[in-house]
Amino acid sequence: MRQLIAGNWKMNGLRADAIALATALAAELHGDAGCDVLVCPPSTVLAAVTEALAGSAVMTGGQDCHTDASGACTGDVSAPMLRDAGAGWVILGHSERRLGYGESNALVREKVRAAVAAGLTPIVCVGETEQQRLSGNAETVVAAQIDGSVPAGFAGVVAYEPVWAIGTGRTASEDDVVAMHRCIRSQLVETLGEAGAGLRILYGGSVKPAGAAALLALPEVGGALVGGASLVAADFLAIIRAAS
Ligand code: PEP
Repeated sequence: MRQLIAGNWKMNGLRADAIALATALAAELHGDAGCDVLVCPPSTVLAAVTEALAGSAVMTGGQDCHTDASGACTGDVSAPMLRDAGAGWVILGHSERRLGYGESNALVREKVRAAVAAGLTPIVCVGETEQQRLSGNAETVVAAQIDGSVPAGFAGVVAYEPVWAIGTGRTASEDDVVAMHRCIRSQLVETLGEAGAGLRILYGGSVKPAGAAALLALPEVGGALVGGASLVAADFLAIIRAAS
């Protein structure tokens, strides 16, 4: 399966920095990068970044969207707005939104429906907290997140991101990554039938250039969702090369 390397810039990037980063990626990634490459900048710079990446192999996406296409929702961004700014993808259900804003599985599922209706490919994030892992519930929690967040007919991507590995410098062991990705695969098949067998499952959580090749070679790992390292062109490019 062709791998997807996706960068989540989170709430980082004023216009000049964002364009400089996009320009550095575009300079290296023309033609076939050997894997699919995506960056998800803040929505304020999404159009400018999309423009800076035009003609390169790098696609753009949003980091969240509302369930409605438009309306009285101060501060929110809708899926058609992301599409209008040049996005083809959107990250949904990131743990920073599930935990920071109380987003439920049902809300994430509605956002997935809105994204698909606007022509975006959703990346649905799932992952257990450290407490849930320590109490032996990691697989149960993640299976329930898949079951609740992924609607019938889902044809997007799932990202497994253990919460305790995000931004901490800690990564899951290879055995745990393989076990969790197998669990996600079997839940996808249970929820979606045979269609669930072909969907990409990304790993996310402190992915850095060192160790990226070994991680990306693990069974059922279809790419990576990269936070901090995606803000440094050389590091993100090294991860892309590890996938190619
Ligand atoms: C993320 O937030 O999606 C992420 C994986 O972050 P980091 O790579 O910084 O852990």
